[in-house]
Amino acid sequence: MAGEDPPEARGGGGGREPKTAFMMHPAAVLHDTGWGHPEHQGRLRALASALRDDMVALGGRVEQAPVGGGVGDASLLAAIGRVHDQELVDRVRAMSREAARRGTVMSLDSDTRVSGASWEAAIGSVAAGLEAVRKVAAGRYRNAFVAARPPGHHATPRRAMGFCLFNNVAVAAAALRAEGIAKRVLIVDWDVHHGNGTQDAFYDDPTVFLLSLHEHPHYPGTGSASETGRGSGVGFTRNVPLPAGTPRADYLEAFAGSVAMAADTVAPDFVLVSAGFDSLAGDPLGAQLLEPEDMHAMMRLVVRIADDFCAGRVVVFLEGGYDPKRSAVGAVAVVRALAGLDVPAAD
Ligand SMILES: [Zn+2]
Repeated sequence: MAGEDPPEARGGGGGREPKTAFMMHPAAVLHDTGWGHPEHQGRLRALASALRDDMVALGGRVEQAPVGGGVGDASLLAAIGRVHDQELVDRVRAMSREAARRGTVMSLDSDTRVSGASWEAAIGSVAAGLEAVRKVAAGRYRNAFVAARPPGHHATPRRAMGFCLFNNVAVAAAALRAEGIAKRVLIVDWDVHHGNGTQDAFYDDPTVFLLSLHEHPHYPGTGSASETGRGSGVGFTRNVPLPAGTPRADYLEAFAGSVAMAADTVAPDFVLVSAGFDSLAGDPLGAQLLEPEDMHAMMRLVVRIADDFCAGRVVVFLEGGYDPKRSAVGAVAVVRALAGLDVPAAD
């Protein structure tokens, strides 16, 4: 099985098939959470190196795309301001400056850390996500994987928490809407933890559908099936709580059914994914049983749905995943699915 997807008729590729972009801001790896913290710098190093090792096999279908934009870019602050309160933005910036001045890592809450490089990493990861969605919308890339760090899906409009400072996927969704690129956005979150920050950002918004599958009960405690939205947003949040140790087949069945339902409900013209690799078996912060090939299958399904609804426009954001080697294998599987390639045969 070559695993080739049929070529798509997409503009902007200069007559060639657009590629899958891998995007990572250079500062993302510098965000320092301190010794022993699970969300450490080695996560991105392992991921980038696994992808690099697979680049030849990726057959020229994936390219690392440069990320411009950074701390001096006022439009990035405006984009963040669509989701987050100014007070939170100011607090993260001030704490990062203070951490730089003291040369230490500071605690924003019991598990969320800020270092001197965190401001640039957080802004840079937002920039990478925005560039990814704009370039995919313009047809420059077929789809994209954004190696964001710090992760984002726990960051609520008012509060940084759960290792997350700014909600990368929510800022991208808000930009898609505000810039008129998309009228309706589907966000699929398969991190082992509930995407509470993303839920809060769009809870009363019928133009952004959040589907979150997560271990329950588990951090952060939210995400019961009864949380479905508020006001005109009712029916545009779907939570699928799954007990620890959910068999792979049951997880995949729940995933397929809920993604199809979500897509039919919102009819997206852009799809975003919060890809957490902490739902892989053996993750130190989760107790689910998924294997990298399951994530490949999940990603393929999302790509197929995006093909049906919105010319394949999908951008994937890295969220959690705390076994760096396993997460890296999972990320390669997801990038392969984005690029229309099979997973390598298991040993
Ligand atoms: Zn997580």
